[in-house]
Amino acid sequence: MNLQSILPTRAPAFADLALGPLLGKPVMAYYYVTYKCNARCVFCNIPDGPMDVLPVSQYTSTQGTIEHFDILKRLGVRLIDFTGGEPLLRKDIGTLLRAAKERGFRTQMTTNCTLYPRRAQELRGLIDILNFSLCSPGPEPHNTLRRDNSYDSVIQSLDIARRLGEPYQIIFVLTNDNADLLSGMIDLCREKQCILKIQPEWEYFGNDGIAIEQLEKARAIALEKNVYVNWGELRVFKAGGNQIEDRACKAGNAVLAISPDGYLLYPCYHKIAQRIKFDWNIVDFFETEKWKEMQDKAGKFKFCDDCSNLCYIHPSFYYKLDRNFVLSAMADIRYVKERRRIERQRKRSLTSEGVVIAAE
Ligand code: SF4
Ligand code: SF4
Repeated sequence: MNLQSILPTRAPAFADLALGPLLGKPVMAYYYVTYKCNARCVFCNIPDGPMDVLPVSQYTSTQGTIEHFDILKRLGVRLIDFTGGEPLLRKDIGTLLRAAKERGFRTQMTTNCTLYPRRAQELRGLIDILNFSLCSPGPEPHNTLRRDNSYDSVIQSLDIARRLGEPYQIIFVLTNDNADLLSGMIDLCREKQCILKIQPEWEYFGNDGIAIEQLEKARAIALEKNVYVNWGELRVFKAGGNQIEDRACKAGNAVLAISPDGYLLYPCYHKIAQRIKFDWNIVDFFETEKWKEMQDKAGKFKFCDDCSNLCYIHPSFYYKLDRNFVLSAMADIRYVKERRRIERQRKRSLTSEGVVIAAE
């Protein structure tokens, strides 16, 4: 029996993070369902970036994407992060999420919320970690940083998700422009009954990234209620990012990235050294010495020096027993406990408001 198949789908993310390294498998996949986005955030180059030239006509079909989930399952992946671009631009996103859930995956999605209010009902119960991106407690500088008018949609989405009983939280990209707004963000998250997940902005396409001294503002609130700050991430950031002689990033070992046209992006989406067709041949390829060498090389390329890409670095912490592992585990255990506390609080207050969360 496959050990992973007997674990409940809604087991805490921490269990997933522990299982991957134990089984020597990648725990997570970033599945880029699209490179298109209807926002133009100043800290992102996905829309209009070098990848966005890929025509939608070349994207993998719904059925083809579902087959990729079967392959990911065989490779041992536990958690699929539906990413983009803006994933809700995919008309078939509900079908894809449902297929992932039917296969026992935990699902995660981050949305800019512009389309969530009109699709919330369709997505209900299909996402285990639902991230809403918000850059400030009020409309500014959120709308300026996002280069759209999505603030009102985010607030509306929080209220809708709460009433639907969805597992939502706020992702706050900490930048030099909004680092002084943390206390307002905490107040908002307490009011909206969710976690505030702080993600420092990193530098990767000519943007500046956050100044190191600003990170202390995140550290100062790490033990506040409703807040999630990962101490392992702060440590890596402070040290100047991944160092190739002692890598923190184990992309390819911990995390896989799949493109909308069905390629494994090696070692990661942000720096692609090789694109490998993602079909059933990959199952055998992952057993070869060549793949093991490639896994060993991820995080050690010249371009990996000083990289602070937390999307790959965070899951990598669990593949190496060191100080980052301990710091990250402490933060993640606290996160899981805090999430449960907030969920209980939310249920109680919904009940007192007379809101009945109907079965999905
Ligand atoms: S919403 Fe997301 S994908 Fe779109 S521009 Fe902003 S950060 Fe990039
Ligand atoms: S260190 Fe950065 S560039 Fe290198 S594999 Fe990891 S995420 Fe990619």
